[in-house]
Amino acid sequence: MDNKKLKLHIAHLYPKLLNIYGDWGNILTIKKRCAWRNIETVIDSIDLNDNIDIKKYDIYFIGGGQDKQQITVSAELQKHKLNLLKARDNNAVFLAICGGYQLLGHYYLPHNGKKLPGISLLDVYTTAGDKRFIGNVTAKCDFISPESLAGFENHSGLSYLGENTSALATVSVGNGNNGKDKTEGARFMNVFGTYLHGSFLPKNVHFADYLISLALEKRYGEKIELAKLDDTIECRNHFQLLNKKY
Ligand code: GLN
Repeated sequence: MDNKKLKLHIAHLYPKLLNIYGDWGNILTIKKRCAWRNIETVIDSIDLNDNIDIKKYDIYFIGGGQDKQQITVSAELQKHKLNLLKARDNNAVFLAICGGYQLLGHYYLPHNGKKLPGISLLDVYTTAGDKRFIGNVTAKCDFISPESLAGFENHSGLSYLGENTSALATVSVGNGNNGKDKTEGARFMNVFGTYLHGSFLPKNVHFADYLISLALEKRYGEKIELAKLDDTIECRNHFQLLNKKY
């Protein structure tokens, strides 16, 4: 297909509330890697009380945030739960980071707070742990090439996967979902959750391209080969993160 005609619509969910540690850099990465390939992107910020027209969007992004902001977004997301489940079932791509990831599961139970309902796009639940996991993470993801992911975690939530959701990756360095079962993040259909801030995609441009390819396939109904980019600097950065002695 002629790249000139390719276009992707992205919904950035609640950027004024969930956008901690530069998570909006993930949106910027998708935008730039599309632009370098002559693929147009239309990015809408979805704020409180906005409607979400799921017929429009190919990619949904939600960043991380503190418990306080999650309380507000948890309540707002309930209004869109059925619609976003339909979007998931239509193979829309979701990328959710940390606090946003927790809210795409069934619930997040913060410290001495009331349970925050999620929207169950992922069969995951999260309860607050008694310490914060802060530091670099490297992990092995077996459905991308190279099979590596790197990023930075900062969360007290401990996430546990149900049987209808697989882990995004297996932790090599760091804690990931809960510091116990070596899982990091979650995947179901084209919904991806991860604890990796950084932001995540600039440190893992191969994963950004994987998401772009999935979104193009969802929109145009066929696999579309992405033009190769000169990722010398991005790959050097990625492999330096993997090989650093933490
Ligand atoms: N408030 C959540 C936690 O501490 C998410 C934090 C984040 O998004 N970095 O687990």
